[in-house]
Amino acid sequence: MSEPTTAVCQTCGNSVDPNAPPPCPKCGGMGRHYSAGISVSVPCSTSVTATHEHREETKQNNRSLLIVVWGLTIGMPIVGMFLAGPVGAVVGVVASVMTNVLGSRATKTIRTIERNTVHS
Ligand SMILES: [Zn+2]
Repeated sequence: MSEPTTAVCQTCGNSVDPNAPPPCPKCGGMGRHYSAGISVSVPCSTSVTATHEHREETKQNNRSLLIVVWGLTIGMPIVGMFLAGPVGAVVGVVASVMTNVLGSRATKTIRTIERNTVHS
């Protein structure tokens, strides 16, 4: 809140418009006495802070990798039927490792965390 500055003529004491340039409309005097209003600013604020958190989890499947993984999962036991002994064991281990590695890459989890802080 700010009160407007008031002005009075120095010659006749007539109150004049502080924004209007001299001379005084009543007596033509050029002198003026200004009195500034007191400006008091009281900060009155009620602060409410609200934090809104939004979490989103999206799973993205890499289709071609998933097909390979499923192909290995289903195909390898069939291949294993025709392979016996150490060779079959090595192929089985390789297939398991490949399935494991590819499987972990086939599905990608994307986490999105949004935080909105609202001041009001
Ligand atoms: Zn005057």
